[in-house]
Order: sequence, then structure tokens, then C-alpha cells
Amino acid sequence: MNKKFDYLVVGAGPFGAVFAHEAHKRGKSVLVIDRRNHIAGNLYCESKDDINIHVYGAHIFHTSLKHVWDYVNQFAEFNHYVNSPVANYKGEMYNLPFNMNTFSKMWNIRTPKEAQDIITKQRAAISGEPKNLEEQAISLVGTDIYEKLIKGYTIITILMTASKVFLWVVIPR
Ligand SMILES: Cc1cc2nc3c(=O)[nH]c(=O)nc-3n(C[C@H](O)[C@H](O)[C@H](O)COP(=O)(O)OP(=O)(O)OC[C@H]3O[C@@H](n4cnc5c(N)ncnc54)[C@H](O)[C@@H]3O)c2cc1C
Repeated sequence: MNKKFDYLVVGAGPFGAVFAHEAHKRGKSVLVIDRRNHIAGNLYCESKDDINIHVYGAHIFHTSLKHVWDYVNQFAEFNHYVNSPVANYKGEMYNLPFNMNTFSKMWNIRTPKEAQDIITKQRAAISGEPKNLEEQAISLVGTDIYEKLIKGYTIITILMTASKVFLWVVIPR
């Protein structure tokens, strides 16, 4: 191939695809390559019997920014989905995303003030600047919420401990 491009994008996932789209809009030529035989990266879906199957694991899109929502809707039609999972921590069932219901079950309390007091006390387990993602999470939500609702999710989906994820994120910067 002799044609020259302004950019070569390796990977047709959302990052590469958005970059290519925006560069093309600005008059640049872009070659996008991917080792998979489809676009969309880990967000890729296959339709079987009119059901969208998330080939690389379930994906939910969330944003509170209208311009972001408008932007992504120019490319795809989204299914409406309300995310209301229940976490199973060693047989204890908790609502996610965590809310007052979760806190009431976890600590047998009734008011946001009681929850706030417990979280504030537990956050003090980390003093000074957090050294990794685990410490950052504990400094924000305390030890119980981290241990029961965040740590396991991070390990299962990313297959690394939270402290290693932080290193993985910071090294390329
Ligand atoms: C199980 C799971 C669930 C997730 N759930 C959510 C969710 O609910 N909501 C959410 O916002 N995010 C979720 N994510 C994260 C989301 O998938 C990523 O943030 C997003 O896909 C990153 O986009 P990307 O373009 O950077 O990379 P990717 O989507 O990974 O795309 C990278 C592409 O580059 C290609 N590639 C890589 N290296 C090469 C190479 N050397 N040569 C050629 N091609 C290459 C790959 O084949 C791939 O197609 C989830 C991730 C996983 C794994």
C-alpha cells in the first residue's frame, strides 16, 4: 500500500475510533487497524435472535453530561437499562450502587448522619497522600465499603489488585 496517511491508529476501540472520527472531521486522513476482525474493541456486541450479546463482558454506558450523551448517540442507538445489581459479599447481599439501604444493612443504622460518621472514622485509616488505588478508595469511602463492595469487583474485572492497577495507570504518564 503506497497511500500515505496523516495518522495510523492501532486499535478500533472507542478511543481509536473517536480519535479517527475527530481527526477525519478536521480534514486528516487516518488508517485504523485492529487485530480483531471487528470494530468497537471491548464494547463489541453480536446480535443473536435479536439479543445483543456483549462478547467481551457486559458494558453499561453512563454519563451525567448531556453533550457526551448527544455525542455518543450520533454513532449508535442505546438500549435503555437501569443498573440495579446486588453484591454478594460472603453471603451478605448489598444494593449497588451503594445507598442508604446498603449502609443500613451493613451497619444496622438508619440515618445518613450515622453513615457519614462511620465513613469519616474509617477514612482515617489512611493518613497522608494515598500511595495507590486501594488507599485512595479507602480514603474516600472507608474500609468496609472498600472491602465489601469495591475490592472484589476490581480484582474480578481487571484481574489485578487495586494497588497494581494504580501502578499500571501511572507508569505510562
Ligand atoms: C468485562 C469488562 C466490562 C467493562 N464494563 C464497562 C462498562 O460497563 N462501562 C464502561 O464505561 N467501561 C467498561 N469497561 C471498560 C471499557 O471496555 C474500556 O474502557 C474501553 O473499551 C476502552 O476503550 P479503548 O478503545 O481504549 O480499548 P479497547 O476497547 O480495548 O480497544 C482496543 C482495541 O485495540 C486492539 N489492539 C490492541 N493492541 C493491538 C495491536 N497491537 N494491534 C492491533 N490491534 C490492537 C484490540 O484488538 C481492541 O479492539 C469494561 C471492560 C471490561 C473488560
